[in-house]
Amino acid sequence: MHDEPIDPFNGDPADPTAGLDDPGDDATPDPLTDVERQDVLEDLADLEIYQALLAPIGVRGLVIECEDCREPHYFDWDLLRGNLRHLLNSGRPRVHEPAYDPDPDHYVTWDYARGYADGVHDTLTEGTEDEPGTPTATD
Ligand SMILES: [Zn+2]
Repeated sequence: MHDEPIDPFNGDPADPTAGLDDPGDDATPDPLTDVERQDVLEDLADLEIYQALLAPIGVRGLVIECEDCREPHYFDWDLLRGNLRHLLNSGRPRVHEPAYDPDPDHYVTWDYARGYADGVHDTLTEGTEDEPGTPTATD
């Protein structure tokens, strides 16, 4: 009887235990700090609000100034949510998957979305006649 356990990864280059101590291994990202996690979770919550408020008036997503290429990138709502969840799960951002051939008229900045949400909130809580500004998203 040969009952010795066989190492299923013996000689396998994909051995998951190989290179665990290799600091240069790209497959082992640094986990987010608690503060970073909280930031991402808050962004996700904000995103839900912004999409609920802005999508009905024609806004398709947000434009984000890329720190790497110093160009604006346009992200659809679903793409933004996917990127944030990816960041939450993997600890690293998913870069450069902006919307294809976006129409800049249909995208607003985080700051704009935040201001718009604040304006709607104030309107609801104060009962004023003031209308929050609407983006010029005309076709
Ligand atoms: Zn970029």
